[in-house]
Amino acid sequence: MNIILLGPPGAGKGTQAKRLEDKHGLVQLSTGDMLRAERASGSELGRKVQAVMDAGQLVSDDLIIDLIAHRLDGLRAKGFILDGFPRTVPQAEALDRLLHDKGLKLDRVIEMAVDEGALIDRIAGRFSCAKCGASYHDRNHRPKAEGVCDVCGSKDFVRRADDKPETVKARLEAYRAQTAPILPYYRKMAVLRSVDGMADIDEVGRQIEAVLKGG
Ligand SMILES: [Zn+2]
Repeated sequence: MNIILLGPPGAGKGTQAKRLEDKHGLVQLSTGDMLRAERASGSELGRKVQAVMDAGQLVSDDLIIDLIAHRLDGLRAKGFILDGFPRTVPQAEALDRLLHDKGLKLDRVIEMAVDEGALIDRIAGRFSCAKCGASYHDRNHRPKAEGVCDVCGSKDFVRRADDKPETVKARLEAYRAQTAPILPYYRKMAVLRSVDGMADIDEVGRQIEAVLKGG
């Protein structure tokens, strides 16, 4: 089973990918991880990637396709979950050619659809204890005594810069701009399915399972 998982940062894609790995013996191919691993391996391809990145250039589509091809060859799994690629129609086409060459097929493209306003709310409300790391949320999980950590009694709290509403909003916009062109591409191929990315983790998992069973 070969899947592409699409979803904005914060939609819980990593969690769902992990579940699919555990349950179905799939392996997650994340472009970021693949680039890091290939560089670290010191392979010829890894050195090419390193040179491009050292020069401050973007890794080309061809290089990423080579990277995926390389990973697919060494893959001892029942399938893959591709994450972070493709992001453009030419990339999607290049991926189709690669899979065809390898005698593989793309079974499903699963979009974790989100309500952007609600997602911003969910992410932007997060904060945690600076001392013990216990996590809280402005709206639905405040400390029992205002300003005092339930777990360790500390009065210091931190918010990640990444969780600021403006930052989250910018990430969502970038994601939308990137994926907008490929959704119609995969819709036309009849492999695109959408699940409710705002539902709780188990429910999203159930919806993904239903899709994989042929929904
Ligand atoms: Zn604490």
